[in-house]
Amino acid sequence: MALIVHKYGGTSMGSVERIKNVARRVAKWRAAGHQIVVVPSAMSGETNRLIGLAKEIQEHPDPRELDMIASTGEQVSVGLLALALKAQGVDARSYAGWQVPVRTDSAYTKARIASIDDARIRADLDAGRVVIVTGFQGVDDDGNITTLGRGGSDTSAVAVAAALQAAECLIYTDVDGVYTTDPRVVPEARRLNVVSFEEMLEMASLGSKVLQIRSVEFAGKYRVPTRVLSSLTDPMIPLEEEMKSGTLITFEEDEKMEAAVVSGIAFSRDEAKITVVAVPDKPGVAFSILGPVAAANIDVDMIVQNQSVAGTTDFSFTVHRNEFKKAIDVLNTQVVKAIGALEIVADDKVCKVSIVGIGMRSHAGIASLMFKTLSEEGINIQMISTSEIKTSVVIEDKYMELAVRALHKAFGLDQTPEQ
Ligand code: ADP
Ligand code: ASP
Ligand code: MG
Repeated sequence: MALIVHKYGGTSMGSVERIKNVARRVAKWRAAGHQIVVVPSAMSGETNRLIGLAKEIQEHPDPRELDMIASTGEQVSVGLLALALKAQGVDARSYAGWQVPVRTDSAYTKARIASIDDARIRADLDAGRVVIVTGFQGVDDDGNITTLGRGGSDTSAVAVAAALQAAECLIYTDVDGVYTTDPRVVPEARRLNVVSFEEMLEMASLGSKVLQIRSVEFAGKYRVPTRVLSSLTDPMIPLEEEMKSGTLITFEEDEKMEAAVVSGIAFSRDEAKITVVAVPDKPGVAFSILGPVAAANIDVDMIVQNQSVAGTTDFSFTVHRNEFKKAIDVLNTQVVKAIGALEIVADDKVCKVSIVGIGMRSHAGIASLMFKTLSEEGINIQMISTSEIKTSVVIEDKYMELAVRALHKAFGLDQTPEQ
């Protein structure tokens, strides 16, 4: 008998029929003697619908109220799933984040989990119940409801698994694992049986939305065995088969994983590029540009400062497209005049494409194959950033799919690797 956390995403919870299937699957695990905590998302489309309602009233909704609204999708899900389990004769109890409580900071719409009290969950598990906890939401120290950012139910699930020291966290979704790239963009993408924690962290941070990055960070920090698998299989498939399916995130590098130099391709359309033009080239300038941006709680990604010509330089960086307008406002009001720059040039029609693989550490020439492949497709690279196990480029967003497909082929990811 083991304590296992299941997470079901929006598609998996997308209709009453699907919720009944989730209940069948959970009942199967329970019947095998396991203690089960389930963390579901809102039904598919629901979070978008709720945010849309808020935006009909206020273009940039007050963040506290937005979280009050957006968090309700998950509350409906937990209640429905509890009913579906009871209808199948399984004792279950649902909780909203604040009832557990799942404590977070007060950064509305992108709150971070600070702690999870396991007492209530454990008491129910000990009483033989399945416990269902809302994904995506928590409560701050003042009792305000917060949400964890889009895709945040993954993080709720792994954090609950860490708090309970669960044997495994199973992330059930609408694909049967982590692929070499998004199978919706490249049909030839292959499922990976295992992916290293570091690669998964890079892929998530570079835009693969199969897992929210903070869930991968939690998995790494607390060594939570985490597996991504399909919720769309027959819920009654044998448990042994299900336990081996999907993609396991591993914390140890083995030789087989080293065999693939590049393991995956990630991409993100949510990018925007901002250039501060003709910045006086002197100490402290990077700070005087990015300091106010950071103070406005805007995350900056790639940064490039050009060689200076005649004492001035151009300073470019990328931000999430959602924060593009806010970043430009900050620069226009607090930075341009203050540092004596000429102007701001902004472009939100860019995207980021990245190749990821721990094998890149020990292989030279990987980035150059990436650049060659893009040039053969006539794609201009606007910015480049590298780390030990990834290379990312910013390109015009209309070339995103083309770039991903070309790179997937160039790195041989559509071919089954030799074992
Ligand atoms: P859920 O609602 O279950 O959380 P998401 O839509 O958030 O599901 O994440 C699953 C989706 O992630 C898949 O349908 C797929 O289109 C996308 N995806 C992006 N990159 C990958 C990848 N490398 N492997 C698998 N799926 C990916
Ligand atoms: N329902 C939330 C969202 O759509 C959280 C999640 O699905 O993980 O972003
Ligand atoms: Mg998701």
